[in-house]
Amino acid sequence: MENINWLKEVESRQDALIEDLFRLLKIDSVRDDEKATAEAPVGPGPLAALEEFLTMAQEDGFETKQFGPWAGRVEIGSGDELMGILGHVDVVPAGSGWETDPFEPVIKDNRIYARGSSDDKGPTVAAYFAIKLLRELGVEFNKRVHLIIGTDEESGWQCMDHYFKEAEMPDFGFSPDANFPIINGEKGNVSAIFTFPQVEITTVGYSLVSFKAGLRPNMVPEDAKAVIEGSNIEFIQESFEIFVEQHEDITAESSVSENRIELTVYGKSAHGSTPSKGVNSATYLANFLQKFEFNSTSAGDFVHLLSQLLHLNFNGAKLGVAHHHEVMGDVSMNVGIANFDIEKGGKIDANFRFPEGTDPETMLGQINTAVENFRVNVDMTDGKEPHYVPADDPLVETLLDVYHKQTGFEAHEQSIGGGTYGRLMPRGVAYGALFPDSIDTMHQANEFLALEDLTRATAIYAEAIYRLTR
Ligand code: ZN
Ligand code: ZN
Repeated sequence: MENINWLKEVESRQDALIEDLFRLLKIDSVRDDEKATAEAPVGPGPLAALEEFLTMAQEDGFETKQFGPWAGRVEIGSGDELMGILGHVDVVPAGSGWETDPFEPVIKDNRIYARGSSDDKGPTVAAYFAIKLLRELGVEFNKRVHLIIGTDEESGWQCMDHYFKEAEMPDFGFSPDANFPIINGEKGNVSAIFTFPQVEITTVGYSLVSFKAGLRPNMVPEDAKAVIEGSNIEFIQESFEIFVEQHEDITAESSVSENRIELTVYGKSAHGSTPSKGVNSATYLANFLQKFEFNSTSAGDFVHLLSQLLHLNFNGAKLGVAHHHEVMGDVSMNVGIANFDIEKGGKIDANFRFPEGTDPETMLGQINTAVENFRVNVDMTDGKEPHYVPADDPLVETLLDVYHKQTGFEAHEQSIGGGTYGRLMPRGVAYGALFPDSIDTMHQANEFLALEDLTRATAIYAEAIYRLTR
């Protein structure tokens, strides 16, 4: 096998590879809670895609095992050690803007267009086909291999919770659900919840009736809205216009009726693990509001804390939680949700991605010191630990070596804000299938997988699985 041309082997079977992938792409496997039943807890689509995958593997002569409606696996090999490959067949909603039917795959300009083509049916089928190719070439697997297929990766990972309650944990492995060269570090994930109890209402100052921003802790809020009442409301409107002019990153609108004004700030959404790539509408709006006096103590605390400690504070330094790890990088902070109501008080969810070397308990202590002068309670949610497989682990070394050998591209370790299925295994990483020169269309309209990427990834997976099962 040492002199085999893996890419050639895959290219000569490209039609069969595409045929396998199309079987799955034709199934709309978006999670649908309205159609959820006990038999299909995230709706019928993800289950149908899982069953189609297992049927295909059975037709190809593989042993398979299904774990309720949640997950399944394809098995091969023998030996004590167990290698895991973790992919998923659920997909995010199609959304609008498609030029073709997202669940009727078409090949155009050497690209396969379909929802799930690159996330994650394409890469999972690539890994499956790699195993099939090795078997066809007569390879003996000296370790056991489980190709594990989940149905709820895009939402809550319940599929893997159920799977690992019953199934054996692989000794090592990878998830083909991110990018090459590798992701061997994933930061921890925890939220600090700031609660502002309503303390007292005075007669002086404006009244912050409400403040609303954000949908989820892992997204940068695109827009933030505040409703304010008081006399001389025109003063707020004039100051707001000046503030918006001075800040190029945001746009805004406002509307006045009698003694009431509604302010909306528009920023830019981004993933919560990369907050500096977005423009946080919530902290900008608070930054504007901080110069006014409010008639409730909690409104003042809410606005000032957002503005002074959370605005443009992507590494958490103003909260005292900044920490740098040589490989995994810095703490990142995203203010994902910020809500205030004059009756109920306020609540902020600040989501942190943190490297090894700090932890939620330490961070809570640091935050409590930083907020000493505010009337606020801080709690940490149940977090996820950072995950790191060292660069000198034979798994990482082998995967990087195969990648470099086949592509000629630079191979180096890589950490992200998290998280992939790779972190579920103690010695687990993410490996492909996006290349540095691929166009990333995951979660977007007109998602595609370049045919060249499909064959390149399959060839890499074949050699990687071959070497890791010696
Ligand atoms: Zn995915
Ligand atoms: Zn995804």
